[in-house]
Amino acid sequence: MQNPKKNPIKRVVIAGGGTAGWLTASLMKKVLGEAVNITLVESEVIGTVGVGEATIPPIRLVNQVLGIDEAQFLYETKATIKLAIKFENWKTKGQSYYHTFGAPGKAMAFCHFHHYWLKGQQLGKTQDLWDYDLNYHAAEAGKFAPINAKDPVLELPFAYHFDASLYAKYLRKLSESMGVVRIEGKISSVERDNVNGYIKALRLDNKNRIEGDLFIDCTGFKGLLIQETLGTGYDDWSHLLPCDSAIAVPSERHESTRPFTRSIAHDAGWQWRIPLQHRNGNGHVFCSRYVSEDHALDTLMGNLDTKPLADPKLIKFTTGRRRKQWNKNVVSVGLSSGFLEPLESTSIHLIQSAIVRLIQLFPHNGITPSLEAEYNKQSALEFEQIRDFLILHYSVNERTDSAFFNDMRNLDLPDTLRHKIALFKENGSLFRDQNDLFLESSWLQVMYGQGITPNDYHGLVNTFSDEKLKEMLTRLLKIKREPLSQLPSHDEYLNGMVKRA
Ligand code: FAD
Repeated sequence: MQNPKKNPIKRVVIAGGGTAGWLTASLMKKVLGEAVNITLVESEVIGTVGVGEATIPPIRLVNQVLGIDEAQFLYETKATIKLAIKFENWKTKGQSYYHTFGAPGKAMAFCHFHHYWLKGQQLGKTQDLWDYDLNYHAAEAGKFAPINAKDPVLELPFAYHFDASLYAKYLRKLSESMGVVRIEGKISSVERDNVNGYIKALRLDNKNRIEGDLFIDCTGFKGLLIQETLGTGYDDWSHLLPCDSAIAVPSERHESTRPFTRSIAHDAGWQWRIPLQHRNGNGHVFCSRYVSEDHALDTLMGNLDTKPLADPKLIKFTTGRRRKQWNKNVVSVGLSSGFLEPLESTSIHLIQSAIVRLIQLFPHNGITPSLEAEYNKQSALEFEQIRDFLILHYSVNERTDSAFFNDMRNLDLPDTLRHKIALFKENGSLFRDQNDLFLESSWLQVMYGQGITPNDYHGLVNTFSDEKLKEMLTRLLKIKREPLSQLPSHDEYLNGMVKRA
């Protein structure tokens, strides 16, 4: 039955043109087409946050939906391939482990591969968990080419590192070619309906007035519409994720580019090193309660291994989430909706999933309390699940050399995370919560990498004789390494793609 059109949502206005603004504009226009007219307002004077270079594999789906040619994308955004994050000094100084996008071993019925590997250790099979992971081997060897594997054991999942400002520029070109209208100017005031408080129009300092039915707030940390106008409120999570500052600086590229991000723990935080085609991205995320800005800057500059290319930039933040990410006729996307520090490169993904959610719940016949509530419920769960995964990296550690890591070890954990850790410790069990972005293989690598070894393994493993178990582990070890000799170096692959663009 056709609903009578009460308050149809046709005019979508996006405030802000960073990664969030242009990703929202391009995806919504591509999917919703003529059902919406999209206008985007941005101010070149204000600019963007200018960081955000590492991604996770679902970004490839976005590019596919947008019809982006991969060679063209790699060329335009100076992108490199990301197979993993290497965490250094997190468990103890000098130790490192990988969180790869792959999975160790292979899918087994009823219980995961790592249970078999745990028993294998008792039987004298000394290979590490990551020896059974092709992503790890390719990352270490600096090799890459997409593998179109019929057998999931041989998959090589990947994401990208890219220059975020070039990505936004690319998305802008795409959006405008689909009919998105861009307006330059600073939003100086916001008009609201006297009765329901909905936003009616944005007024710009150049006297332009932009009316809309639905407003997407992509104005960055300040949340011009969701917070400064509607006063929605913020759940502050800095008691769980206390880092509150970052200093970012680009530096010269290395001679060869590694296909992984480095995350190096320091005294009160950590440093990222992200390889791009034309430069490295570097930054130091730290907690200002434990180290001064000067100390943090010295640590960063002292740990650059190539020449800096610009002045360092300080960024302050508060981890947490907007209490309602959809409020009245405003949906916040990107930094305006909340911030989880970039340890697992999840922010651009959160933009992507917010847009998908909004499209799935698009209020074409008008905004209703149920649509808004469902959107907010799903967003809250997503933020909480990622928050727990990030806390895990900090709270499970053996770093006795740092007051910060000592305190993080004694953190009062959310019940959800406490339960997950206890279960894994007991017998290695891991279950993916509903819609959790991170699969069991991610939780496994970080739990084990940070220093939790389960006390037991699943009893099902004992249905394999010792000989059969050893034979399976030996065979898998060989299978996981075999494709490596066929892969070109990461740089050879990139050069080939860029030439094709
Ligand atoms: P911004 O980039 O701040 O854009 C805001 C936009 O709003 C701009 O266009 C601005 O001009 C406009 N605007 C603001 N006020 C007005 C006004 N009054 N009038 C008109 N226009 C206005 N994410 C990842 O996925 N991976 C990473 O590796 C990663 N690293 C990060 C490291 C740090 C230190 C930080 C802080 C963030 C990182 N992020 C990362 C997050 C990522 O940077 C952001 O999610 C992404 O850039 C989106 O930002 P945004 O578009 O929401 O905001």
